[in-house]
Amino acid sequence: MTSNRLEKARRQALQLDRLDPLGEFREKFWISQTPTGNDQLYFCGNSLGLQPKGVQELIQEELENWRERAVEGHFKGQHPWMFYPDNLREPMAELVGAKPTEVVLMNSLTVNLHLMMVSFYRPRGQRQRIVLEHQPFPSDRYAVESQIRLHGLDPAECLVELGSGGDPQTVDESVLEEYLARHGEQVALVLWPGVQYATGQVFDLGRITAAAHLAGALCGLDLAHAVGNVPLSLHDSGADFAAWCSYKYLNSGPGAVAGCFVHERHHQQTAPVRLQGWWGNAPESRFLMGPDFVAATGADAWQISCPSVLSMAPVRVSLSLFQQAGMTALRKKSIAMTGFLEQLVQDELGTSVEIITPAEPERRGCQLSLRMRAGRAAGRQLFEQLEAAGTIPDWREPDIIRIAPVPLYNHFEECWRFVNQVKAILGD
Ligand SMILES: *Cc1c(COP(=O)(O)O)cnc(C)c1O
Repeated sequence: MTSNRLEKARRQALQLDRLDPLGEFREKFWISQTPTGNDQLYFCGNSLGLQPKGVQELIQEELENWRERAVEGHFKGQHPWMFYPDNLREPMAELVGAKPTEVVLMNSLTVNLHLMMVSFYRPRGQRQRIVLEHQPFPSDRYAVESQIRLHGLDPAECLVELGSGGDPQTVDESVLEEYLARHGEQVALVLWPGVQYATGQVFDLGRITAAAHLAGALCGLDLAHAVGNVPLSLHDSGADFAAWCSYKYLNSGPGAVAGCFVHERHHQQTAPVRLQGWWGNAPESRFLMGPDFVAATGADAWQISCPSVLSMAPVRVSLSLFQQAGMTALRKKSIAMTGFLEQLVQDELGTSVEIITPAEPERRGCQLSLRMRAGRAAGRQLFEQLEAAGTIPDWREPDIIRIAPVPLYNHFEECWRFVNQVKAILGD
């Protein structure tokens, strides 16, 4: 009986793969390998995306440009370094739903959060608090804590985390709205994730931003798990700033250059507080080497140093893949594939495994967070057995196994194999 159901699901998976208009994109990636030379079941694109095959060539191009032209590579060669970031701005802006001048690629994520908070966390009078959800990614929490101290304030009073605490749980947007209705006049900044990293919950970013603004606070977003995963319309959401990394769903490799968004309403401000460097100076006068800083247009003004071209090359490849596939088509496949995996987990593993990610497609991306009903030790054991069997999920303390079927390179049949594998391990 059960095996009939499982067999039927397998045929369904194969059929869905045959009909998948994005199926061929898998060929554009290197699939990581088991020690015996087979493709891993890779469900960890939420942590580090697979390498697009085109990356090596583009990095090689810049190595050659450097070798052959040295300093002249700044202005010569196929992709002069001076203008390299300009090729990335439009596709990145399109991906996050922003105007090109609102987006800049620079640094890494936590650094960008700091730079943004220097400008947009300006505690005044009673308004000193930064509000986060209750399970912020540790790096974000550390950054916020230190920004509060930078102003001579006490994180115990000024750092607020909203949610029910303890267990990984989703947080309804209304929790923030209610808090702001009561304490809004004490809040300087709301810093919220697009997708919560542990539960996979997607937030309504327009609603989060509107609540912050209604309370007279500013709103910043961490899009580490949202970019390349769910459609975004950053400009329309109204957020004041946002930051994200590009090594997760954007597949741009470890430490790849990160993205940053500053809403255009902050572009015209005269002399906002900002950490300055020569790269934030307008390009027309950057090399006049004058003593006075003339801010570049838009988000570019927040650049400090000259960009790392070698770490931008993979982002070029990745963004062109996103442009070819299209976020609408990717999202459509993502909803179908995550739904397929969810149904299989419920049907085949439901007695042992609980899914803590929201069930509504609009409240999640491609990640499902699983938890063993038998507790942490059972979950940890399953995770290790999966790894030994050539599957790459990831583990988040205290007891979460995250599985992210990524629409650019995962197949439905891999979701089926995963469930079949877990079933075999658990002896269900
Ligand atoms: C991945 C991730 C980070 C990582 O920060 P880096 O500065 O890139 O090391 C930070 N915040 C969140 C929410 C993340 O998911």
